[in-house]
Amino acid sequence: MASPGRPVGLEEAAGTALPGFLLEEWSEPMKVQTLVVSMFGTNCYLVSCPETGKGIVIDPGAEGKRILLEIKKSGLIITEIINTHGHIDHTGANGSLKEALQVPLSLPEKDLDTYQNPGWGLGFIFGKPRPPDRLLKEGDQVSFGKQLLTVIETPGHTRGGISLYGSGAVFTGDTLFAGSIGRTDLAGGSFNTLIGAIKEKLLVLPPRTVVYPGHGPATTIEAEARSNPFLL
Ligand SMILES: [Zn+2]
Repeated sequence: MASPGRPVGLEEAAGTALPGFLLEEWSEPMKVQTLVVSMFGTNCYLVSCPETGKGIVIDPGAEGKRILLEIKKSGLIITEIINTHGHIDHTGANGSLKEALQVPLSLPEKDLDTYQNPGWGLGFIFGKPRPPDRLLKEGDQVSFGKQLLTVIETPGHTRGGISLYGSGAVFTGDTLFAGSIGRTDLAGGSFNTLIGAIKEKLLVLPPRTVVYPGHGPATTIEAEARSNPFLL
């Protein structure tokens, strides 16, 4: 997970999460449910509008059946599946969820290549990824019920990774973690680009904004600006 002093990402996160863990939080006025999925400990988020019960799924990395069960238990009406970036540990259950929910799948335009070419020989294991219905770029909006999230392009971990910001929360994928940042040694990664994106586009958000990262615990913009060793 986000051990301070080291960038985290795919392999580092393995085995450090709590499988089966479900956390419910409210980032007023949105509801945020966190499911930690796969051996990589990916945070899959169910983000919803409490007034209408409509919501989205962010980063269904694996365990499609379990995600569907949680959606059913919550009584949510899912309207869209979103990936913050194209890595397989964030996209692995796209196909099964899309099949079951029959909703659009959206991912970052500039990360389409990462998505279609997972590398690590994983394409062979997982087969051809489900094609997206919508490609997201800077300033695009994702709405569900009365809630709205805006796309912020935050490249550096991958070429086209995005964050989603709204209602006092930001979903940062593998760009920013509590006390750490995403690894930049994979295809399309760039340390300088990542640091630039975090400083220019995330640290400028209101200090109390809650950060929901792709792995590990939630944090705030204020806490990261103050103590994240990569950003000082
Ligand atoms: Zn990643």
